[in-house]
Amino acid sequence: MSEPATVDTPLKKLVGDKTAKALAGHLDLHTAGDLIYHFPRRYDERGEHTDIRSLDVGEQVTVLAQVQRTAVRPMRQRRGNLLEVTVGDGAGGLLTLTFFGNQAWRERELKPGRWGLFAGKVTEFRGKRQLNGPEYVLLGEGGEGEAAVSDEIEEFAGALIPVYPAAAAVPTWVIARCVRVVLDTFTPPEDPLPATVRAGRKLVDLGAALREIHRPSTKEELYRARHRLKWDEAFAVQLTLVQRKHRAADWPARPRPPRVGGLLDAFDARLPYELTAGQRDVGREIAEDLAAEHPMHRLLQGEVGSGKTVVALRAMLQVVDAGGQAALLAPTEVLAAQHHRGMRDLLGPLGRAGELDSAEHATRVELVTGSLGAAARRRALGEVASGNAGIVLGTHALLYEGVDFADLGLVVVDEQHRFGVEQRDALRAKADQPPHTLVMTATPIPRTVAMTVYGDLEVSTLSQLPRGRSPIASHVVPASEKPAFLDRAWRRLREEVAAGHQAYVVCPRIGEGPASEDEPPPEDDNGRRPPLAVTEVAPLLAEGPLHGLRIGVLHGRLPADEKDAVMRSFAAGDLDVLVATTVIEVGVDVPNATVMIVLDADRFGVSQLHQLRGRVGRGSAAGLCLLVSEAAEGSSARERLDAVASTSDGFKLAELDLEQRREGDVLGATQSGHRSHLRLLSLKRDADLIRDARAEAITIVEEDPELTRNPALAASVAALVDEDRAEYLEKG
Ligand code: ADP
Ligand code: MG
Repeated sequence: MSEPATVDTPLKKLVGDKTAKALAGHLDLHTAGDLIYHFPRRYDERGEHTDIRSLDVGEQVTVLAQVQRTAVRPMRQRRGNLLEVTVGDGAGGLLTLTFFGNQAWRERELKPGRWGLFAGKVTEFRGKRQLNGPEYVLLGEGGEGEAAVSDEIEEFAGALIPVYPAAAAVPTWVIARCVRVVLDTFTPPEDPLPATVRAGRKLVDLGAALREIHRPSTKEELYRARHRLKWDEAFAVQLTLVQRKHRAADWPARPRPPRVGGLLDAFDARLPYELTAGQRDVGREIAEDLAAEHPMHRLLQGEVGSGKTVVALRAMLQVVDAGGQAALLAPTEVLAAQHHRGMRDLLGPLGRAGELDSAEHATRVELVTGSLGAAARRRALGEVASGNAGIVLGTHALLYEGVDFADLGLVVVDEQHRFGVEQRDALRAKADQPPHTLVMTATPIPRTVAMTVYGDLEVSTLSQLPRGRSPIASHVVPASEKPAFLDRAWRRLREEVAAGHQAYVVCPRIGEGPASEDEPPPEDDNGRRPPLAVTEVAPLLAEGPLHGLRIGVLHGRLPADEKDAVMRSFAAGDLDVLVATTVIEVGVDVPNATVMIVLDADRFGVSQLHQLRGRVGRGSAAGLCLLVSEAAEGSSARERLDAVASTSDGFKLAELDLEQRREGDVLGATQSGHRSHLRLLSLKRDADLIRDARAEAITIVEEDPELTRNPALAASVAALVDEDRAEYLEKG
């Protein structure tokens, strides 16, 4: 007998100790609520195929398939027999199940014609996909004469068979059984959606939705259930963001209007190029925001190389003109140092206050990173605290205690996708009054992501590249199919160097040693060889195909001063080739670099590759990006690379990236180890729903800003914000 269950009832009161332990240990499911919100990944239908041919080797899978034939063979290496069962998906895809030892009963059970769910890890043997000793459950045949329908089969009475995210120790059918047990006595939580919204948007109530998503009788029922539950997800996120925006709009901020004849005007007069129309338009929007009495919260997104830095610098100068300070937070030391060099160059005497050749109104540009020596740090922090430094650039080190500003008026966050909202807030907290905030990202953001991830910001877009940019040609180099192409790639690189240009070689890994920021721990590597490493590839190139060239090495584990030295000598043209990790992914700007060879390119994400190749073709000479990969033609990895090679439209690639990544990854929640609250919502497919939810959220927040009249809704928003500290609202 099980007790009535609510979301908080511990599972061990409902499903028995052993199962409860397994659910907790393997799937992090502890309460009835956890389990009920553990939604099926997909639904299989008997007779419908689950494309076996698309299974990836190394993947843990559950497939619905029909037994075709069985065969018993003696084993070669060992004594005993091997039972081989061939199952098919109805579409021609075949999978071999192997069982060791004498198992005559199994052979009898796995009769040709029977349908079952089979779970295991996909391996490949002599070109055939197989599962070794899979767990399985056979489905009732539904016909007459089928006696003793087992307990498991009960779970699959409906036509749609739920397949859950499962673990080897807790297969999907065990989860299905537990869900049924819990649903039998489950009292759903109070429905947080206001009745008006539910009626207006024709949404089923929460209890029905939670039931039907697990045990749908029809596809319509399933659609309704999912639609309703997606609404909950979208609505909670939009309410959070709309509330955030609403509150921020009421904060006071010190206006920083432009000053005629000030530093910004002097800067514009000495700028070596003309601003693009987009830079001017966005500049005007920002200038107006800065002059207002409420803080700016603006996202500036722009193609790689569209010239966001100068837009940011001009905003910073306007704030300095108005007596304030501006800080720019960069994700890496390499990038912070480059901004420091670049901005000091652009400013010239305007950025050298206190030095002999300084100009009237001049300010100082200070760099604050973790690697400053004690004396340099003390000096820099002194300049920041006194207000002498109008422009302060840095990494995370800017967020530390002891970094105090005289009057911080503007916070710029470069390459926002590398930061969370907490970092943005930590820097803002260094101002007496909420400062103006400009967030920049070069990862183009599809509309729904902008609405969801950056839903509390106004958005400006720079779509134009400065004139005189040459296009980047990109090609896939299939290293295993056509090794000669790889030789040709190195020859091309040498030609570019011979013509006076420079090159990048990018690897996915640093090499031996402790992990670092540009080297996430290797994924379960599915039996593939480890990705190529900078420290291993560089010497091979130096002795082999790039013999005689001046090669530098750059990765996140080098000491900061060495990183800086390498970057400087590459920028100065003292190195021909930089062998690097993705430390160069963001922002690095060396216009003389014209060719990039990305090794093991399939190990990178689509947007990441687009970012990376943005490092070449920055000057007047044409850029070339070669994506070297062993991924087989026709594989999904190869298709992604072909897509990157075929277009230079960052927005298109961002959409593609979105399609291929799981939503949780996009929103960053799964990366931080939290279970994402966005289990069903797809930023790709649910654009309309998200838009509707945003509209309803705006209506509600306007009438009831703190949701005092909607306590259940307030609770669902609070749960969202508390549990994940709103970090999924920003890309990790
Ligand atoms: P991103 O938007 O990727 O951060 P950057 O700000 O680094 O791009 O700019 C890329 C390059 O374009 C830099 O070398 C910069 O000096 C140059 N640049 C920026 N604006 C213009 C412009 N209006 N005309 C010519 N070059 C420009
Ligand atoms: Mg940049």
